[in-house]
Amino acid sequence: MIIVMKPNATKENIDFVEQSILSCGLKAHISYGENITIIGVVGNKALYLDKNSPQVFPGVEKVVQVSESYKLANKKFKADPTVIDLGDGVKIGGEHFAIMAGPCAVESHKQLMETAMAAKNAGAQILRGGAYKPRTSPYSFQGLEEEGLKYMAEAREATGLKVISEVTSAQAIEKAVNYVDILQIGARNMQNFELLKEAGKTNIPVMLKRGLCATIDEWLNAAEYIMSGGNENVILCERGIRTYETSTRNTLDISAVPVIKEKSHLPIIVDPSHATGVRNYVAPLSKASIAAGADGLMIEVHPNPAIALSDGPQSLDPDAFKTLCNELKPFLDIMGRKL
Ligand code: PEP
Ligand code: MN
Repeated sequence: MIIVMKPNATKENIDFVEQSILSCGLKAHISYGENITIIGVVGNKALYLDKNSPQVFPGVEKVVQVSESYKLANKKFKADPTVIDLGDGVKIGGEHFAIMAGPCAVESHKQLMETAMAAKNAGAQILRGGAYKPRTSPYSFQGLEEEGLKYMAEAREATGLKVISEVTSAQAIEKAVNYVDILQIGARNMQNFELLKEAGKTNIPVMLKRGLCATIDEWLNAAEYIMSGGNENVILCERGIRTYETSTRNTLDISAVPVIKEKSHLPIIVDPSHATGVRNYVAPLSKASIAAGADGLMIEVHPNPAIALSDGPQSLDPDAFKTLCNELKPFLDIMGRKL
């Protein structure tokens, strides 16, 4: 349930509504928009309505029931788009577009540094690199773990890029928060609710990838797990879903972008690399993502994709990545987005 305040509602009016919610042992989520303030009742609304009639409180415009089970992630709770501020002018959401680039896995110090330099040089703002790799086969390369995170932090130091890395367990979160700017929760863990709760206890942004077979509502409920734990800095990432089509590794659900924009205030970025598994499809789908309204891209880049320990076939080399970044500029201009 949300309580929409009148445009001229005073601070006293807002405080009064907030107190009425808190006094029932529930949480009040206040979103100060440009014109109107929206107060969300988080918790058992029946308990609240038993004791209160908010529609007649001073300054209240209307009371709206929110039928969706996700609340904090819901656009009805917060009309303005969430902008994730990573510091040093790097923002994701609103008019700000961000490009994340880097290897699937951190393989060595040299490989990561070379990729970081190439990513920076092409115009990316964020370096990606997996240190804990959730691989389909237990015999595949599993990642350098904490050593990989250290290299990520060194690459940040050397280039000024922000860094993002995937976490696969509570222990990995404990380590990663010391080295990275954004925690990534991968597709395979989108409904690992204990992991989501742990991420909700941290105070750095979390990028939540869509599960391989997850509906958009399931995905937003997963975001709600992180947000309800106290961390509202969530970025969504569409990375393709499993369909009957075999020409691509997954099927990029480009429609997820406008659907999310309608349902949520959270920023959404697109990962065309994992969505397709094919290098040649990364550029056209990057452009399509911008046109659809995405707030950023995550692209796999490797100094020598032919010898990559994972996801070589979908990785761009530094030259191809630079060419792509240049090609994206007119699309960003048309959409009124700035890098
Ligand atoms: C990744 O980004 O490294 C990754 C494993 O992607 P996904 O979780 O989308 O499969
Ligand atoms: Mn990968």
